[in-house]
Amino acid sequence: MKIYIDGTYYDKENAKISVFDHGLLYGDGVFEGIRAYNGRVFLLKEHLERLYDSAKAIMLTIPMSFDDLQKVVLETCRLSEIRNGYIRLVVTRGVGNLGLSPDKCPKPTIFCIADTIQLYPPEYYEKGLRINTSPTQRIPQGALSSSIKSLNYLNNILAKIEGNLYGAQESIMLNHEGYVAECTGDNIFVLKKGIITTPPIWAGALAGVTRRVIIDIGRLAGREIRVDMLTRYDLFVADEIFLTGTGAEVVAAVEVDGRVIGNGKPGPITLDFISRYRDLTQMSGVAIYT
Ligand code: PMP
Repeated sequence: MKIYIDGTYYDKENAKISVFDHGLLYGDGVFEGIRAYNGRVFLLKEHLERLYDSAKAIMLTIPMSFDDLQKVVLETCRLSEIRNGYIRLVVTRGVGNLGLSPDKCPKPTIFCIADTIQLYPPEYYEKGLRINTSPTQRIPQGALSSSIKSLNYLNNILAKIEGNLYGAQESIMLNHEGYVAECTGDNIFVLKKGIITTPPIWAGALAGVTRRVIIDIGRLAGREIRVDMLTRYDLFVADEIFLTGTGAEVVAAVEVDGRVIGNGKPGPITLDFISRYRDLTQMSGVAIYT
């Protein structure tokens, strides 16, 4: 495995970042989680676009062009001999002093790791997940936009810990008004009487790359997909619920806060999305080995 840091590819043991890096000291930075399938990087352009947008929003200028950063991702995969795997691309504010001001960070740090990942076990896809609602609210948009995929994940991590405490496999995060935003690392979709609904970004969700693809796949297949506010009640009485994310792909949720969803098994529409999404991952993407 070779890890890219600021222009050099290092062995895993030597891939190190300064303790003065503000990504570590303050969570000051942005990142992407990207997948490779079948020797191709899936939705690379979409992930890079979101990375540049996140960086722009926090006034961090990525010191590399879009094309060069794309080359870094592909080269990291090649040097790590990845055909199927998970790519972590991170841009931090860079090395500074102990003060929080970014003025003292002259150069952002860029690093990229390509590794194989431990997926959710197959039984999660066959049986579906039990999920709960986290007592920790989503950070309001006026405090930090949920569209920024930043290194500040404490809000999500607290919700994840609480989910784990209750034995749930994912946690739903509500916004400060009590509407469903998303899960800790996944977007959420609800099916009721043939209509599929996912919360708007401004409810507190990340603009998930998988969410976008699922909306497109669904509409192409003639399904009605709405972007609208959801409450916990809407989840409790749903016919089907599924979560989407780069890591999780598409996975059913079959129990929410003790309420069984549908018949307690992944529903037919969820299963259809799982298979359509998997087909797409196998067919498209930017070739790593040319
Ligand atoms: N919400 C959050 C909070 C996330 O961290 C992620 C990514 N892991 C998602 C949703 C799903 O986004 P994507 O489909 O782009 O991976």
